[in-house]
Amino acid sequence: MSPRNPTLAEIASCVSGYDPDALPVAQAQEFIARLVPRVQAVEKLAIRSALGRVLASDVISTIAVPAHDNSAMDGYALRGSELAAGGDTVLTVAGTGFAGAQFDGSVAPGQCVRIMTGAVMPAGLDTVVPQEFTRVEGDRVIVPAGAVRRGDNRRCAGEDLAKGEAALKAGRVLRPADLGLLASLGQAEVPVLRRLRVAFFSTGDELRSIGEPLPEGCVYDSNRYTLWGMLQRLGVDLIDMGVVRDDPVALEAAFRQAAQDADAVITSGGVSVGEADHTKQVMKTLGDVLFWRIAMRPGRPMAIGRISSGGHDAILFGLPGNPVAVMVTFYAFVRDALLAMSGATPQPLPMLRAASTQAIRKKAGRTEYQRGIVTRSADSASGWQVEITGAQGSGILRSMSVANGLVVLGHEQGNVAAGELVDVLPFDGLV
Ligand code: AMP
Ligand code: MG
Repeated sequence: MSPRNPTLAEIASCVSGYDPDALPVAQAQEFIARLVPRVQAVEKLAIRSALGRVLASDVISTIAVPAHDNSAMDGYALRGSELAAGGDTVLTVAGTGFAGAQFDGSVAPGQCVRIMTGAVMPAGLDTVVPQEFTRVEGDRVIVPAGAVRRGDNRRCAGEDLAKGEAALKAGRVLRPADLGLLASLGQAEVPVLRRLRVAFFSTGDELRSIGEPLPEGCVYDSNRYTLWGMLQRLGVDLIDMGVVRDDPVALEAAFRQAAQDADAVITSGGVSVGEADHTKQVMKTLGDVLFWRIAMRPGRPMAIGRISSGGHDAILFGLPGNPVAVMVTFYAFVRDALLAMSGATPQPLPMLRAASTQAIRKKAGRTEYQRGIVTRSADSASGWQVEITGAQGSGILRSMSVANGLVVLGHEQGNVAAGELVDVLPFDGLV
């Protein structure tokens, strides 16, 4: 995708404090940000098909929005200079202007124009008094002192978008308001980057797929479903490659296929230090891959790199096998990396500060992600409190399911006292 990809060793030399055997989360994130390329191909889409897609180039406004000064209220348009300094202003009505049918006549001194919201301001008039502030007596409109100031209730031409201004910047993930903004410019189509293609599979001989019998000692593959859900929310194209047996031939074929079909490949399982299976070996032979021990909990082991086959390559994220570790490492590393690969401008995730309802044991020197339930609290300084969801084992997927956020205890943080404020990453809005 990019002209020349730096080697992993080159990237490592740029990351200060790089230590593959005890890598702080921040350093791992920096490494990955340097590693991942961005998609280049652009396609044009009708604006309704572009929701959630990444804008490929700035959208420059070719018109002013609104095109003319217009009224923000139903009422009477007048000359602000004619408002009496104290006491009533008395005017007569010269005619009516509607949205889409403006008043074209001339307005003599002492006259006003009955005007509706969105109607173009008649020439020379600069102020609108809402009808509920006025008294109408026969053909006279009486504006009480202080009802409006000059310029009130007038929307100026170009106040939403000036002609020639960048309405939206490249890298924006298009949201509903953006579709409306594009429509307000009269644009039917918009250039977006092509969707990222992400392949994923699970590794491990103990795994069975839904629908298969479950022999003793085996577990159903859940990681492919949590991954599918998290990836779906990111709006990438998915290639579900199933469960791949712990067999070098099957693994190599799967990795080669993924390198050819996808921009990124995500696997789960088989990357722990003590791992006896073939996953790590095959990853190594197909590319430039590092095996990290990250200073975090859950989710210590992770493989990262680039695998190649037949002149195609893909970024590899080899996630740990434990179901909670898969989700946590995805949110800590993979989510932002895939957004960057999709061409999206990075946006920091909103964090809450919540008072912990209990003391939490925490060792400094690693980042911990505990599952928590955040609720409103009148007693907390921030208005929020968080309770840890019981057992925090990295195999207990239910802890993720009952939680509504991740309590993020930073690298330097030590034990937390009851009532202390901690950072919480809420799941709502986390794509
Ligand atoms: P591993 O990282 O391969 O040593 O796996 C760690 C733990 O996660 C083991 O208990 C595995 O059985 C479990 N595990 C690995 N992959 C999956 C999966 N796809 N679905 C559910 N559990 C898994
Ligand atoms: Mg395994």
